[in-house]
Amino acid sequence: MEYVDSLLDLIGNTPLLRLSRTLDLPSAEDTDPTGPLVLAKVEYLNPGGSVKDRIATRMIEAAEASGALQPGGTIVEPTSGNTGVGLAMVAQAKGYKCVFVCPDKVSEDKRNVLRAYGAEVVVCPTAVAPEHPDSYYNVSDRLAAQPGAWKPDQYSNPHNPLSHYETTGPEIWRQTEGRITHFVAGVGTGGTISGVGKYLKEQNPAVRIIGADPAGSVYSGGTGRPYLVEGVGEDFWPDTYDRTLADRIIEVSDADSFAYTRRLAREEALLVGGSAGMAAFAARQLAHELAGTPEGRDAVIVVLLPDSGRGYLTKLFNDDWLAQYGFPTGDADGVQTVGEV
Ligand code: PMP
Repeated sequence: MEYVDSLLDLIGNTPLLRLSRTLDLPSAEDTDPTGPLVLAKVEYLNPGGSVKDRIATRMIEAAEASGALQPGGTIVEPTSGNTGVGLAMVAQAKGYKCVFVCPDKVSEDKRNVLRAYGAEVVVCPTAVAPEHPDSYYNVSDRLAAQPGAWKPDQYSNPHNPLSHYETTGPEIWRQTEGRITHFVAGVGTGGTISGVGKYLKEQNPAVRIIGADPAGSVYSGGTGRPYLVEGVGEDFWPDTYDRTLADRIIEVSDADSFAYTRRLAREEALLVGGSAGMAAFAARQLAHELAGTPEGRDAVIVVLLPDSGRGYLTKLFNDDWLAQYGFPTGDADGVQTVGEV
């Protein structure tokens, strides 16, 4: 019989899928048959539905080992996104309590996912200053100061990048038989790009590490100007981001991110989130730059797709929502006019 004992054994070892139709490269018969190969690492196949299952396990196990998290303890984190789901899932499997603090702008659906895993969700008003006692930051600090509470803090916890150094990086190296030439990932906390990038450069310093970033975020030289793609881009420099690793940052607009995310669903049957579409759009741009060059012949580009599109059905997959922000609603013709490559 083939089975695992714990859900946690199902985290990682996600597959690589070759992207084809949406790359719009000249067909293999017309040109060089080897061309740039673009492979997507499909992280929504993790049991909690995103790449964040990896960091949740690693951060919790390290806190158990150091004694920061004791049996019966409570995990407190200000998050409502994928990290929350990963933490809630791992906490449930290991018997810890979880309290998540999130601003009131977070959708009821997202809060309900966390509650479904048995977590408690504390909702704070968005319309108060950060120094107000009811602010998101102050409430989570207060809860984390209670006895038995532990705050993972994905933006400063070294086990966030370490989880990628120890799992995601080695998986990609093994799956490509060491032939990867470029790694592309969106940057939020920077954990993914820093951990994977460090591992790959240690195996082969020639591997290029490329960050994809929403136009406006600090990683591509912005000041934190608002953008709509979720989970990536920052208005500050987190400790978990290693500034020495990326060889290049490709800036992607919201319009290109959303249009390409929708193409991935309709043309590759790959229902992923907007940050995945953003990273894949950057990988496609890179493939176009490399196509027809000597370097392009052996190029193997791996792009990490962090989560599923299920969490964004009322946003980027909804025509009214897109139209409200002035984006093309993405019938096939409209989509092809977006983007410069
Ligand atoms: N995409 C999504 C949807 C995310 O939730 C995150 C994490 N904030 C990222 C991308 C970026 O990953 P990282 O934090 O490892 O840079």
